Amino acid sequence: MRGKTWRQTQAKVEVSALNFYTFDVIHRVVPPVAMPSPHRSAAADVCATVGGKTADPLRVAVLGSTGSIGTSTLEVIAASGGRFRPHLFAAHRSVGPLLEQARIHRPAWVVVTDPGAAATIGADTLPAGTRLAVGPEALDDLVRAPEVDRVVSAIVGAAGLRSTLAALGAGKTVALANKETLVMAGPLVTRLAAERGAVLLPVDSEHSAIHQALRSGSPDEVVRVILTASGGPFRTRPRETLDAVTPAEALRHPTWSMGPKITIDSATMMNKALELIEARWLFDLPGEKLAVVVHPQSVVHSMVEFVDGSVIAQLSPPDMKLPIQYALSHPRRLDGPARRLDFSAGLRLDFEPPDPIRFPAVRLGHEAAARGGTCGAVLNAANEEAVGAFLAGRMRFTGIAEACARVLDGHAYQADPSLDDIRRLDAWARQEVVKWVSA
Ligand code: NAD
Ligand code: MG
Repeated sequence: MRGKTWRQTQAKVEVSALNFYTFDVIHRVVPPVAMPSPHRSAAADVCATVGGKTADPLRVAVLGSTGSIGTSTLEVIAASGGRFRPHLFAAHRSVGPLLEQARIHRPAWVVVTDPGAAATIGADTLPAGTRLAVGPEALDDLVRAPEVDRVVSAIVGAAGLRSTLAALGAGKTVALANKETLVMAGPLVTRLAAERGAVLLPVDSEHSAIHQALRSGSPDEVVRVILTASGGPFRTRPRETLDAVTPAEALRHPTWSMGPKITIDSATMMNKALELIEARWLFDLPGEKLAVVVHPQSVVHSMVEFVDGSVIAQLSPPDMKLPIQYALSHPRRLDGPARRLDFSAGLRLDFEPPDPIRFPAVRLGHEAAARGGTCGAVLNAANEEAVGAFLAGRMRFTGIAEACARVLDGHAYQADPSLDDIRRLDAWARQEVVKWVSA
């Protein structure tokens, strides 16, 4: 795996990272610092299942199974002809959809992280063979279990960090949709993965495209990584009307169907800011090698420019089932349920630079990716809080990027933060946005 190989030059796991983790789990039965797991290696997984003839499917834990990425993941698993087996589904409060998924797909476990929501589940509502666990600690334990071969990390927001750390700490192969994990704690997360022999495979379509394109050359031959952006619903909307954008308008994405948080991030283009930071850590790239281009059709998912001038791109219709499947089947490719490009119908591809006036968030992403340290965690937390305020009608659409810029500029920057530092600054940034909204 290219990203992981690049990161292997990194030093050891930060002791402070494990301390942070220990505080969270101290009351539990399972030892908090995961020991090397007996789970199969990624290469062995593939021999055993993807191309091979044995009836030994990859057992998949889907965290955030009721969300947009989660439901697409279940489609990929169902279409895999038994190569992937659903082992665990986890959701926060969406108990009804979770139980419905359990009845259809029969995982060994369902986990509800919100105890209040779990209390509404009747004893007779689980299908035979499926057990219920409750709370984030239980999820961490189950994710680390030897029965789990791959973890799809698709919880939304900062809440996805702890279970991703649990999986990586146990040496799992993680299909990472939760970009916030790398945005908040990129250096710690990639060091932990390298130390534990864990593998991070991107699900974000841009990063999946980059991962695929990087297979065309060696790291020292890469000149630039170019992330494409749809431009969202307001790509051509005049600047002076953006103040009046309503949540309903911002939730109408032209090319992708996604959860509400990331859909608002696409409208502000903060999603691209977060993805610049994600790419910086995932592929160990300096900020100056990262670029963004607007591509309204969302067919070219990103590109890598090599030293000889070749630009390698990955193309497919906007359908997350393809990058999800790539992260589950890597290093092999499988036939699957994702939509195909139809060149016989004609295909037009446009590219234009992002407008820095209408979409100031992109600049924030470049800055945060270049500076590293605490910038990603602060930007992510401020943005999560601001998006919540916008959706609740308490903030203007253009206020989201303004609040984020102010909080980012005003924070006490640290170049090499511990997870404790990150957690503290995450709380501080959210508080600053709350103050800004009520001022
Ligand atoms: P979503 O809102 O549709 O689903 C979120 C899931 O997370 C749900 O299952 C929910 O129950 C669970 N969840 C929410 N809060 C939780 C908590 N506190 N603890 C445990 N579980 C919790 O979100 P989505 O659009 O599927 O996005 C999931 C992640 O994937 C995000 O990080 C997003 O940035 C990333 N991503 C999504 C897409 C996409 O097409 N939707 C594309 C690229 C990356
Ligand atoms: Mg993306």
